[in-house]
Amino acid sequence: MIPFNKPYLTGKEAHYMYEAVFTGKLSGNGMFTQRCQAYFENRYGFKKCLLTTSCTDALEMAAILCNIQPGDEVIIPSYTFVSTALAFVRQGAKIVFADSQAEHPNIDADKIEALITPRTKAIVPVHYAGMACDMDKIMALADKYNLLVVEDAAQAVDSFYDPLPPKGGLESARESLEIIATSENNTKPSISNSCSPLGVRGRSLGSIGHLAAFSFHETKNIISGEGGMLAINDERFIHRAEIIWEKGTNRAEFFRGEVNKYGWVDIGSSFLPSEVIAAFLWAQIEHLDEIQNKRKEHWNRYYEALKPLADKGYFKLPLIPEYATNNAHMFYLVLPSLEERTRLINTLKQNDILAVFHYLSLHSSPYYTKKHDGRVLANCDMFADCLVRLPLFYELRNEDLEKIIETIKSVYNK
Ligand SMILES: *Cc1c(COP(=O)(O)O)cnc(C)c1O
Repeated sequence: MIPFNKPYLTGKEAHYMYEAVFTGKLSGNGMFTQRCQAYFENRYGFKKCLLTTSCTDALEMAAILCNIQPGDEVIIPSYTFVSTALAFVRQGAKIVFADSQAEHPNIDADKIEALITPRTKAIVPVHYAGMACDMDKIMALADKYNLLVVEDAAQAVDSFYDPLPPKGGLESARESLEIIATSENNTKPSISNSCSPLGVRGRSLGSIGHLAAFSFHETKNIISGEGGMLAINDERFIHRAEIIWEKGTNRAEFFRGEVNKYGWVDIGSSFLPSEVIAAFLWAQIEHLDEIQNKRKEHWNRYYEALKPLADKGYFKLPLIPEYATNNAHMFYLVLPSLEERTRLINTLKQNDILAVFHYLSLHSSPYYTKKHDGRVLANCDMFADCLVRLPLFYELRNEDLEKIIETIKSVYNK
């Protein structure tokens, strides 16, 4: 069976975990945690990063930091993972679900303004498949109505938003995004040399909203089993974020020697991961570029091989918005109907290939359907019925990739 996903190990994970264990510092916020956080801050321009035990946790921290109160409204795409909404529901928010674009699973930024009311507190764009939402439009709405923006960047590590008009056609614009602009002063000396500095034009996803949440779940590009990170771009939130992260205490300040005792000062939870998890993540970070390059190779092969069938109208390929880069988190197809999708998934399964679909529209989920205001979200429902994800992981062998492509072709080329 060709699996849908296989977690990739770079080889140093156990070594760094051993190091964490034998230095005797097992709890959170130690050397590996700080290394990972500094790396992301430097490479992607986040003001402050805090590792968390999941992206769900990072979203929960964001919901607390946004000071969401019962009855506050939060605008969230319906086509997303449960956690995006759940984190805000736990704070008592009313979720106002937004539709996707017709041609892209991302939230339709042109339809957000109609959803804003005096109770709206925040917008939570999800960068689906690591491809940017229309952040200029979303940030302009946030400015106009004084709202907070929390980017769900769970899938968006190492991806960018670049609204500059492309010069010399889309392809060459995209090529130029790959060019590494080396900038010595972007890298603090504490960062391993194997990690390159900020390498592309544009702003990194997760650096644009007030807050952003990343995932290192084993299905994402870089992983720690379960794991996540809160990126804080608005400095007003940094101090409180550290307190919420450490069970509502000012322990982080204490360890920096800024106060001489620490205690309970706010709400919070134990959101920080153990050093063992951070050590694992560090081994992944060291190979980030290599992982990204390999995933992009696979992605490009799928795209090029399946384009002739897409041109004939059998399905649609992923659309990369002109302001977005592709971090090759996901390769998906959009079929014309639920029946067609089921047929394709079944044919793949008969050939020992596991392809999967997601998400079930959150606005009609068993938990939320009675609370939803009844608006029809047609694009979201269409993606829920018609989108299928193909296997994409570092160790996907070329012969397996070709087999997947041939199997798909066999469905249409009779
Ligand atoms: C994976 C994912 C999450 C949840 O991440 P965890 O680290 O498993 O909590 C949230 N939102 C989106 C869009 C995701 O893809």
